[in-house]
Amino acid sequence: MKENVLVSSCLIGLNTRYDKKSSKNIFDELNSKYNVIPFCPEQAAGLPTPRKPCEIKDGKVYNIDGVDLTEDFLYGANEALKLCKMYKIKKAFLKAKSPSCGKGKIYDGSFSGVLVDGNGIATRILQENGIEVISI
Ligand code: SF4
Repeated sequence: MKENVLVSSCLIGLNTRYDKKSSKNIFDELNSKYNVIPFCPEQAAGLPTPRKPCEIKDGKVYNIDGVDLTEDFLYGANEALKLCKMYKIKKAFLKAKSPSCGKGKIYDGSFSGVLVDGNGIATRILQENGIEVISI
């Protein structure tokens, strides 16, 4: 039986991104080895698609208009964790640089394309709960 893995929905061709597009599609590559469980923390939080871009500043998430959406992002991240517990997921393939799914590098909150060290909110919550995050 294949191992269950969580995968950012936008990495399997679903148009869940803030701009209603998807990212690089890695479904075939992963599906040959794993049981792929797609999830988008931001949609799970009830945020619309398309939605305004968001970035993290001083640990909080703001959209480009300065609206604080930290609670929504935490909600989505905890829904991701709930799914991981339900399916006994120990590994997550998440989209790089996102304020939810990014790992290692994220945008700096100035909406000017500058990257800084840091993790998205969902990545942080999953890692804190022992789930390995692989950044794509
Ligand atoms: S929150 Fe994650 S899964 Fe959803 S669109 Fe952004 S990067 Fe993709």
